[in-house]
Amino acid sequence: MFFQTNAYILFCIISRVNDLILIHAPTIYDFREREINYGPVSDLVPSTPVFEMYPIGFLSIMSNLCPDGYKIKIENIALEMLINKKMNVEKKLSSLESEIFGIDLHWLPHVHGAINIAKMLKKIRPDVPVILGGLSATYFHNEIMKELPFIDYVMLGDTTEPFFKDFIDAIEEKRDLSNVPNLVYRENGKIKINKVINPEKYIDKVKLNYKLLIKNCIKNLEIIPSIPYSTWMKSSTAMTFIQKGCHHNCVLCGGSKYAYKNFYYRNFVSYRPVKNVIEDIKSVEESLGIPIYVSGDIYQAGPKYREEFFKLIKENNIDSPMLFEIFNPTQEEFYKDMEKSTGMYAMEISPESSNEFVRAWCGRYYTNFALEKNMEYAKKHNAGKMDIFFSIGLTHQKKENVFEDVQFAKKYHDMYNDWVHFFTSPISPFIDPGSLAFELNEKFGYRIFARTLMDHYNLLDKAKSWIDALNYETIWLSKNDIGNLSIEAGKNMALLRSNNSNIKERKNSLLPAIFEKSELMWSDKTNIKTPMSFFVNTYRGIYFRLKIRS
Ligand code: SF4
Repeated sequence: MFFQTNAYILFCIISRVNDLILIHAPTIYDFREREINYGPVSDLVPSTPVFEMYPIGFLSIMSNLCPDGYKIKIENIALEMLINKKMNVEKKLSSLESEIFGIDLHWLPHVHGAINIAKMLKKIRPDVPVILGGLSATYFHNEIMKELPFIDYVMLGDTTEPFFKDFIDAIEEKRDLSNVPNLVYRENGKIKINKVINPEKYIDKVKLNYKLLIKNCIKNLEIIPSIPYSTWMKSSTAMTFIQKGCHHNCVLCGGSKYAYKNFYYRNFVSYRPVKNVIEDIKSVEESLGIPIYVSGDIYQAGPKYREEFFKLIKENNIDSPMLFEIFNPTQEEFYKDMEKSTGMYAMEISPESSNEFVRAWCGRYYTNFALEKNMEYAKKHNAGKMDIFFSIGLTHQKKENVFEDVQFAKKYHDMYNDWVHFFTSPISPFIDPGSLAFELNEKFGYRIFARTLMDHYNLLDKAKSWIDALNYETIWLSKNDIGNLSIEAGKNMALLRSNNSNIKERKNSLLPAIFEKSELMWSDKTNIKTPMSFFVNTYRGIYFRLKIRS
C-alpha cells in the first residue's frame, strides 16, 4: 500500500500538464494600488488583511485527486502579490498552463479578488474553463451564472472532491456535463443545475496529505505559491478538522446547522473517520514537524470518537504540539485524557461575550462559572495555553458590554498571567450570508447593507476603510461604534499581557498591529523530526535572516 501510494504520488509529480490549477485571490484585487485603512479585520486569523490564506479544501482536492494521477497545482496569487510588490498578475496568469482554472470563493471577503482574477483569466485564456467553488460561491450561484459571464461553472456544496474528478474527466474528454453532480453551468442560454448529492456520505473522501504540498514545492522549484499565509515561515502551523457541519446555531455563523441545512445541502453533522484525521496529523509530523490546529469540537464528537482519537494518538507516538477548539466548556475528564494522550496541547474557546445575556442571544448557552471551571481544569491538566475569543458587533451587545469583556479578561489574566490569552475583534468585514443574523436580521437587531454578491463586491470596491466595508451594523452599535470600540478594546486587551512590546501604532499597514500572529499560532514549538521538516526549518532559518517580512 505504501509503495502503491508513493507510486501514485510520483506519477502525479512527473506528469506534465496540470489538470486543474487552484487559484487563491486576494480580498481586494488591486490592494497594492489602494490606500486603505485595513484595521483589525484579520487580527484573529493567520492571514494579513489581504486574506492570503487559501481554504483547506485546496489541499483536500489535491490529496484526493493526485493519488489517482490527476495533476493539481495550488497558486496562491494573493500571497505572491503580497510578497512581491512588483509581481505582474497578468503575466503570472498568462504563464499558468492548465486544462481548468479553479478559484475559491469560500469566504465572501474574497469576492472582489475572485471576480477580477476570473475576468482576467477569461481574457487571457478564453479557451480554458473557469470554475468557482466554496460556500459563498454556493450561496450566490444563481447570481454568478446570471451576471458574471467570465465564470463558466460553480461547484455546489461543502464536500466536492469526488465531483471534481468527474468534472475534470468530462472537460478533458469533452463529454456531456449533465452527469457531473453538484455542477452549475449554462446551456443554450439557460442555467442548468445538476443533481445535488448531499455531502454526508462523502466525508471519508476528505484527506489532507501535507506531504503533497512539500512535493509540489520541490517539483516546481518554488515555495511561495503553495504557502498558506504570509507569516507561515515565521509562525508555521498546519490544520486538520474532525467534522463538517455543526450541531449549533450560533447567530453569526455561516457554518451553523441553520446555514448548512438551508443553503449548503447538509442535513447532518459528519465526523471524519478518526483514522483519516490521524493520517493528516502524521503527514504533518513526517513532512513538516510543526504545531497542528485541530478544528471542530472533539469533546462534542462523543466519548467513542474521543477514545479512539486519543488511543490512536498514543499508538502512533504523535507528540507534535496540538491546538484544540471546543464549542462549549467541558468536563475535567476531558482534560485528564488530553494530558495523558497528547504531547503538548493548548485549547481555545469563543464565548463571544463575557455577558451571559449577550452570549445566550448569540446562541451559546453557558455561564461564566462554566467558563471559569474550564480554565481551571485546563490549567490543572497542563494545557500549554488557553485562548479566549470575544467579538464586537454582536446581537444585544452595547458599548458597556465590550468594556466588561476587558474587565473580565483582566480578572483572569491576573489569575493566570500569560497562560490565558484573551482576544477581541470586530465581526468583519461581513456577517456571513446564510447565518441567522443575515437571514433573520430584524429578529436579531441587525441592519444589513448588502444582500447580493455584487453589493458585497461594491462595498469592498468603494471602501476607504474597513469600517466602510462592514455589511452591517446593529441597533445597539453603529458602524462607527464598532470601529472605535474595536480599536480601543483590542488595545486594552493586548495591554493586559505582560509582554506588550508588540503593540504598535496601527496605520495603513498590512501588518497586524495589536499582537504578533505567533501568539495565535504557538509557532515556537517546532520540532525537527524528519529530513522533510529539516528542509522546512532550514528555509525558516534563511527566511528569518533575510527578514523578508520584518
Ligand atoms: S460558531 Fe457556533 S454554529 Fe458556527 S461552527 Fe462554531 S459552534 Fe458551530
